[in-house]
Amino acid sequence: MSIPKLSDYKDVVGRDVVGELYTLASHVGNRSIKMVNSTAVGGGVAEMLHRVVPLLNELGIETGWEVIKGGADFFDITKAFHNALQGKEEHFEQQVFKTYLAYNEMNYQEMSFDEDLIVIHDPQPAALIHWQKKRKNKWVWRCHIDMSHPNQQVWDFLRSYVELYDAAIFSSPLFSPQLKIPQYRFYPAIDPLADKNRELDDDYVTSVMEKYEIPRDKPIVTQISRYDPWKDPVGVIQAFKMARRHVDCRLLMVGDKAADDPEAEKILAQVNEAAGDDPDIKIIFLTHSIPTEINAFQRASDIVLQKSIREGFALTVSEALWKYRPVIGGAVGGIPAQIIHGYTGMLVHSVEGASLQIRTLLQQAELAKRLGQNGHQRVKDEFLITTLLKRYLLLLLALDHPGKSTILLD
Ligand code: UDP
Repeated sequence: MSIPKLSDYKDVVGRDVVGELYTLASHVGNRSIKMVNSTAVGGGVAEMLHRVVPLLNELGIETGWEVIKGGADFFDITKAFHNALQGKEEHFEQQVFKTYLAYNEMNYQEMSFDEDLIVIHDPQPAALIHWQKKRKNKWVWRCHIDMSHPNQQVWDFLRSYVELYDAAIFSSPLFSPQLKIPQYRFYPAIDPLADKNRELDDDYVTSVMEKYEIPRDKPIVTQISRYDPWKDPVGVIQAFKMARRHVDCRLLMVGDKAADDPEAEKILAQVNEAAGDDPDIKIIFLTHSIPTEINAFQRASDIVLQKSIREGFALTVSEALWKYRPVIGGAVGGIPAQIIHGYTGMLVHSVEGASLQIRTLLQQAELAKRLGQNGHQRVKDEFLITTLLKRYLLLLLALDHPGKSTILLD
């Protein structure tokens, strides 16, 4: 399938929404953006950038994307920072911060930052700004992680760099820390026309399930997520095993490896151990996932789980809701923005809660269907890529008018 153009979105979101983007873009004028993150594949940030970057270009905003480089020692540190910022107790030696800064400086020296707006995603490249002494352009730090309970040592260190930025963006007001710079709230978004989310033929879905040898004789409960402790994959297995005592079903767990995530194998081993030799549990670990296959797994599922215990947003929730799936999600981070409990899905706080909701939704087909339908509408209203594009355009306008809460466009 050819890569979707902006005009293709008219059929999904309506002519007005796309027209408004062009109007806003004309007010923004000739501008350039550079996005910087730490992985080109795996995880939600890369997933979004792959679509946001070409679509901003189509709107006339010259947008590029660069990925910082680092050795295994750097990514071990940044994953430890990520875990600490999501609340893990850990004390770091000064050498760790020095290594982090050395890699940021090395990347800074190899890159150029001439665009009008530099958007730095997440903590890995956050310190790049330190070496940009005189700047004419704007720098914004886009934080995608759940910052509701940050480890103070890491956050104190990082904040000294974050406060050098012109603004920071968080996925939920719940994470907004005290900062000296303005803050914006951007919900992440999914692309309804990307291979990950577009409509699929039933035959293709069937072929994917056959390829991975997943029988469809029983209802399928699925979690698709990196093997990461915050996604609680072991809790998913426990919840499934509890529920299956009452309702017959299968569990499908799919995860891939993000280039900047060194933890996957360790967590996968814990997951395999928790699953044991249960014939109803299928665990798939992909080096590179194929978007249409992930799409097919979601469409073949009777229930989608995202039982996270910390979560910046979880694109997987919106992806499943868009496909009318009933979703059970951990009541953390950005998930409650997507799941209104009992209306667009079910929120849970424990393994027992997840198990109970699996049983409920497998036994109450009407309820499950209604949640999926409401969920689809919620995604359409709030979490599609057209809304994210609009936010980037509004950000460019807002940064041009610092301190103004209203901007009049002629
Ligand atoms: N994903 C995937 N294959 C996998 C696991 C996840 O393609 O095996 C995708 C998933 O569909 C979603 C993204 O990776 O688009 C994960 O984003 P999310 O915000 O849910 O979590 P993150 O990994 O960024 O914490």
